[in-house]
Amino acid sequence: MIEMAERAHDGKWTKAVFVPEIRKGLHKPNAIEWMVMVTGVALCSVGQWGVFIGAPVALAGVYLGFFMASKVERGLYLGECPHCGAAMSATHYQEELGCPSCHAVVKVRNERFEAA
Ligand SMILES: [Zn+2]
Repeated sequence: MIEMAERAHDGKWTKAVFVPEIRKGLHKPNAIEWMVMVTGVALCSVGQWGVFIGAPVALAGVYLGFFMASKVERGLYLGECPHCGAAMSATHYQEELGCPSCHAVVKVRNERFEAA
């Protein structure tokens, strides 16, 4: 009479607690900001017009990378795998990752680890 069917499909999730990255002093530039800086410096080496365009680009990259607060809060999501319950963590930019324990795909959404 009583069905013990496990619902492994939709709606399975665990709470993921967001832990912001603690920044000391200058924060680290992300990949795009590094690219802007490198591109700017590279342009400076191609001649007068390169310097004209490249110098502001490089400075903008440095400014964005080191002094601007990131729009996306950097940090880690800590929680448990919705598949197997093992402790796991995801970085703020990951939308999907594999569980380190059971290797099942877990989606990171709305501060939740969702079973994919
Ligand atoms: Zn797992």
